[in-house]
Amino acid sequence: APSALAPVVDNYVSYDHGASKSKQLIGEALKARVEAIDHDACSVGEEDPFFVADLGEVYRQHLRWKKNLGRVKPHYAVKCNPDPQVLRLLAELGVGFDCASKTEIETVLKMGVDPSRIIYAQPCKTKSYVRYAAQSHVKQMTFDNADELYKTKQLFPEAELYLRILTDDSASLCRLSQKFGASLDTTAELLELAKKLELNVVGVAFHVGSGASDPKAFVKAVQDARFVFDQAAALGFEMHTLDVGGGFTGDETFEPMAAVLSASLDAYFPPSIRIIAEPGRYYVSTAFTIACHVIARRIVNDATLGTTSYMLYLNDGVYGNFSSIIFDHQHPVPRLLKCGNEVMYDVRRSGYDTPSGIEYSLWGPTCDGIDVIAQSCNFPQVIDVGDWLYFEDMGAYTKCSATRFNGFTDSHDVVYVCSEPGAAALLGM
Ligand code: PLP
Repeated sequence: APSALAPVVDNYVSYDHGASKSKQLIGEALKARVEAIDHDACSVGEEDPFFVADLGEVYRQHLRWKKNLGRVKPHYAVKCNPDPQVLRLLAELGVGFDCASKTEIETVLKMGVDPSRIIYAQPCKTKSYVRYAAQSHVKQMTFDNADELYKTKQLFPEAELYLRILTDDSASLCRLSQKFGASLDTTAELLELAKKLELNVVGVAFHVGSGASDPKAFVKAVQDARFVFDQAAALGFEMHTLDVGGGFTGDETFEPMAAVLSASLDAYFPPSIRIIAEPGRYYVSTAFTIACHVIARRIVNDATLGTTSYMLYLNDGVYGNFSSIIFDHQHPVPRLLKCGNEVMYDVRRSGYDTPSGIEYSLWGPTCDGIDVIAQSCNFPQVIDVGDWLYFEDMGAYTKCSATRFNGFTDSHDVVYVCSEPGAAALLGM
């Protein structure tokens, strides 16, 4: 079982320094793994794609969260990447968990995490899963409609309910409000029904959409949450927690976004109100790099233009770990890892910033024409069958939504490295 909340040391090496250490470790791991493969004699699967994950990056993101959103207790959204080492590290760091299904709840509980650290943040739940949550004492759960209240009354009347409200998610990468969230003209009715059913509504939840880019969405959602807290108080509920959901990106927009959110939380909610969040991609996006192998190549000669380009077929694609292209609107950036006998790891050079080089398109291994990773990218070198490419920032919504279409595996090795001694100590690495 994980230790009690491990103390977190706040004097981690500066963010930039940690990031460069991370690149170094990831580069070494990529190289070592590829060099160990005998491409002419290896067994089936040995040249499969693989990830390198830097758990130090997850740790740094946690410290960055604490520094910028000290009032907000994160509950990692397991759906984003249920990698066991990531979950273990976050559990050790005292982070809570947002689970969307029975399997996610079970996974987290099996690590020894107390049920009070879990929120079942799915407003439309499967009945048998609600029974499982009740048996497992996972009390916190969200709802946004009347039927869910009747379901809760029947299966888990002691649940601690959060009313999920609608947000303006128009500036986010993945919109969620078309599917979930009660509009403010229905919240009074829902709260009245909850009162009539003698259910325990303890807070409000929202989600501004995954990959949010407009801090104003957070401000409006916090104001709307205040409105619902007041509605609830008028009905005799004593709400004590606000759940500000996910949507945080791990890039440089995080600090300004966090500043705006913190200011509006302080303006609308007294310190007595507990604030939680459900960040997913923020924690893991940059921590995972994937390496893929060039399994085949087609030379395309354009007689009219007199040009030659190449179609490269990789052993991973949109039905696999690049599912993020379809589901998460991502544009993974190809980089060259190995070319012939020469092994490279130059993070400054991508397939997109050498426009005068040789043109390639990158395709996945399945039979489907939709399975394309990049329509056009350029490298200065000739890339051949047997070479390797790698892609950074592949931690969020990638392997969790991979399929086995065409008989390819959906489970790939992860090589773990750790650029932060604090994280390594917690994990015994
Ligand atoms: N919480 C809920 C209810 C979600 O649906 C999602 C993502 O879909 C998340 C949290 C995580 O969002 P993100 O990865 O944008 O932080």
